[in-house]
Amino acid sequence: MKENKKQIMDEKYWEDIFHGFSCAITGSGETLHGCGTQSLLPSVSQIAEEDSSPFRVLIATLISLRTKDAVTYAASRRLFSVANTPRAMLALSQEQIETAIAPAGFFRTKARNILEISKKLVEEHGGLVPPDKEALVSLPGVGTKTANLTLNLGFGIDAICVDCHVHTIANRTGWVSTKNPEQTEKELEKILPRRFWIPLNELLVSYGQKICTSVSPRCSICPIASTCPCIGVKKSR
Ligand code: SF4
Repeated sequence: MKENKKQIMDEKYWEDIFHGFSCAITGSGETLHGCGTQSLLPSVSQIAEEDSSPFRVLIATLISLRTKDAVTYAASRRLFSVANTPRAMLALSQEQIETAIAPAGFFRTKARNILEISKKLVEEHGGLVPPDKEALVSLPGVGTKTANLTLNLGFGIDAICVDCHVHTIANRTGWVSTKNPEQTEKELEKILPRRFWIPLNELLVSYGQKICTSVSPRCSICPIASTCPCIGVKKSR
């Protein structure tokens, strides 16, 4: 970044980032939620927009791991059309869950985890998803990213959910200089005003899918191209 970090990383800086990135994604002055095109949102956000029950958010996030957005959305909807509570899920066999969520990546492991999570929620949490990070990461197959997104979209609890898009963009822009998503989460917590914690994931996932792509990002249409140091970018459009 060409300017002094302390000087530019104020509330106004982040407001401009959110506005500029949203406009670039939607191709208009609209926000992601205001543009009327729901498919611009990441798949788990789409699921949460329809019904933000923490269980649905948790399971959709689990399905989304190493899976394309369109596949995640369709697979989640197929599964939730037959079961969308832990108790209803336990009435299904592992094979039925596998059939519903295929071809999501690692669908057999995910189906097994979905059953084990449902069992644990019924036996230890009264059939409810706990609004607590430690309890969430103790569930089978649930890591920090899944726990944070569940807290964000299922409960409206502030947490920064760092996936590969968030990690990559935060490092390319020089906001952070980190080796893994865990470090990125901690560093972003220091520089990002709290009110941006929840919407950051949605914004950067969409931005990473459409503009700051993993291979050959579209820097020519990026609103921060004149100040972004593009760290680690070898080829851009
Ligand atoms: S200028 Fe390029 S590398 Fe930097 S945020 Fe924009 S698209 Fe990503």
